[in-house]
Amino acid sequence: MNKANTKDCFCAHCRSPRKLRYFRRLQVQHYFQILVLTIGVTAALYPWLVWKGIISLPVIWAIFDMTYKTLYRKDLACPYCGFDVTWYKKDVKVARRQVEDFLKQNPESPVLRRVNKSQDIFETPLN
Ligand SMILES: [Zn+2]
Repeated sequence: MNKANTKDCFCAHCRSPRKLRYFRRLQVQHYFQILVLTIGVTAALYPWLVWKGIISLPVIWAIFDMTYKTLYRKDLACPYCGFDVTWYKKDVKVARRQVEDFLKQNPESPVLRRVNKSQDIFETPLN
């Protein structure tokens, strides 16, 4: 995937800069791929089903859509703090627990290093 197909954004939780590789909806190139795949499947099934092989279009579309949305959801979780916006919309407690679990499993996360660094600043005596 080329750089033009990425979306720059910031994590809503830790404010780290991020790049999203997938979009919320299918893009024009995906519809073209679905069309080409449907033509291929219809051509392969033509000896048995003649033009009824075109019924593969909604099946291919659904598989494409589900796969793409799964990749999008996977890409949406922040790699630095584990925050997932979709879980936050559904259930805040679950999203909070996911972030806590993620930070426990990844003690070298840049988010934790930043927090520890800022606590050191506040705990050091000024004089
Ligand atoms: Zn984050």
